[in-house]
Amino acid sequence: MTTAYITHPDCLFHDTGPGHPENAGRLKAIQSRLESSEIWPLLVKSKAPQAPWPAISAVHDAAYVSKIQSMFPLRQTKAIDGDTVVSEFSLEAALRAAGACIHAVDLVMSHAVDNAFCAVRPPGHHATVAQAMGFCMFNNVAVAAQHAIDAYRLERVLIIDFDVHHGNGTESIFGNDPRVLMCGSFQSPLYPYSGGLQGPANMKNCPLPPGAGLHELRAQIQTHWLDAIDHFKPQLVLVSAGFDAHINDPLANLRFTTEDYGWLTEFVMRVADAYCDGKIVSTLEGGYDPNALADSVLAHMEALLGAA
Ligand SMILES: [Zn+2]
Repeated sequence: MTTAYITHPDCLFHDTGPGHPENAGRLKAIQSRLESSEIWPLLVKSKAPQAPWPAISAVHDAAYVSKIQSMFPLRQTKAIDGDTVVSEFSLEAALRAAGACIHAVDLVMSHAVDNAFCAVRPPGHHATVAQAMGFCMFNNVAVAAQHAIDAYRLERVLIIDFDVHHGNGTESIFGNDPRVLMCGSFQSPLYPYSGGLQGPANMKNCPLPPGAGLHELRAQIQTHWLDAIDHFKPQLVLVSAGFDAHINDPLANLRFTTEDYGWLTEFVMRVADAYCDGKIVSTLEGGYDPNALADSVLAHMEALLGAA
């Protein structure tokens, strides 16, 4: 298996201010853990290009895009929502984060690699059609899905989102869009307090109570995901890979272990192998304990490589 690792130094310069859980230390922890692992020489390293503005405008509305554009250049730190802070270099980081996902889709669709992981920030899955939210500026996974639909004429893109928070932004962009099926698991109740079972038909939500772990998720996968995926027959699998359901994560109360992320990744790979030749593009969302995050990403990438 060949696996791309896509990142960019610009993602380190998105400064969210002192004490913010979504900080550059997250990417540094990931990279240093991968560099000291046996899989590092096996990864196909690639630098993220900036996403072109039309790719951003394909999933966000014009008023939001021009609001962000008019905010930069920016000299000071500025909160653009209760939790989302931007500063001087945030726009470059956000364009690299979305651009990494576009590049990953191109690498996987052209068979240059089997699958890809984007180690980027800011994360994306809370960014809605019209607003920044929950540490997210642009919805990276949605940009990737829309790019796959537009550039490769795909008709069925599956998004699996296992971040501990509901991917409300992705739901706002693709709810009731028959070209996308989203299977999401998340703690409930928890920020952003959305993602009920009565959502759009193409959103297969698995809310998990505080204290739940992989055992509970596996039961929900059987009930809520497998038939929907089989009916949908995805041509590409995207992953909103948040690692904040880890038992050590400070922002939530689920009990996933590092090994559970290996199992979850293998589950995603079984799905991709069954329907779309193993094509997977995974992008980093949350994960706020640097050690747990780095270990979990390593488990994720070992599984993507088939080296687990
Ligand atoms: Zn999260």
